[in-house]
Amino acid sequence: MSYLAKDGPIVLLTRSCLSPYVEPVTAAEPGPRVAAEELRNAGLRVTAARVAILEAVRAGNHLGAEAIAAGVRDRLGHVSTQAVYEALNALAAAGLIRRIEPAGSPARYEGRIGDNHHHLVCRRCGSVTDVDCVVGHAPCLEPADSAGFLVDEADVTFWGICPDCRTRDASPA
Ligand SMILES: [Zn+2]
Ligand SMILES: [Zn+2]
Repeated sequence: MSYLAKDGPIVLLTRSCLSPYVEPVTAAEPGPRVAAEELRNAGLRVTAARVAILEAVRAGNHLGAEAIAAGVRDRLGHVSTQAVYEALNALAAAGLIRRIEPAGSPARYEGRIGDNHHHLVCRRCGSVTDVDCVVGHAPCLEPADSAGFLVDEADVTFWGICPDCRTRDASPA
């Protein structure tokens, strides 16, 4: 569910898309992560495809499902697109990965979870870049009037033109 529009920095208040099982502090802990064990700990069935998908999401930079599927196929051979989507949904629901859905773009997936960071999205090429949250925890913004809501998250997306696209704009075609 997304109400993000493309005109300017948008601040929206939504219910958290993170599963209630996420533990924000421990989930972001650095160190070697054993994907299979994490799947098991999250109560998910461990399959070669799921392990490869989790690793592909973590190694990638806000990849879409198609790019993730292509990477997993390079490694494992045939994996159906349906299986990739199902695995991404299961991993996101378990809080092992995070799904972001910039307006007008297919969902992207990332391994950086639990730290309430935000995103810069390029209007031209759709590239997504992380931005640290200054406050560090959700919600990092409070509405002037919360209208009786218990607000738990401010979903912030910054829209603009990325450095690569700016360079392309500046050089004659
Ligand atoms: Zn761009
Ligand atoms: Zn991110």
